[in-house]
Amino acid sequence: MPKFKAKTNKPLDRDYFKYRDRPKKKEDVQLTPCCGIDVDHIDLNVKNKEDWEIIEDHIEEKLRMYSDTESIIPVSCKKCGRLLTYSSKLINKKSLWR
Ligand SMILES: [Zn+2]
Repeated sequence: MPKFKAKTNKPLDRDYFKYRDRPKKKEDVQLTPCCGIDVDHIDLNVKNKEDWEIIEDHIEEKLRMYSDTESIIPVSCKKCGRLLTYSSKLINKKSLWR
């Protein structure tokens, strides 16, 4: 009698039956576990010196263009360093009028 190998002691869920006869398809979009960004998406990275210079230039230009902006924070993922967004702090005009 040929040896039959059953997948015992394993949960048989919907995926088990769905992919029983065909290999499981790779996820369409892979996201970074730390900040949830598409890994194929090319982002500026604050840990990269050249990228950081681009970020600095961008902020410097913004500060020159918008006189009501006091400072800009390049918000990045603390784990992988991907630049997520820029956060601007506006000058509180009321305090200037006092
Ligand atoms: Zn990240």
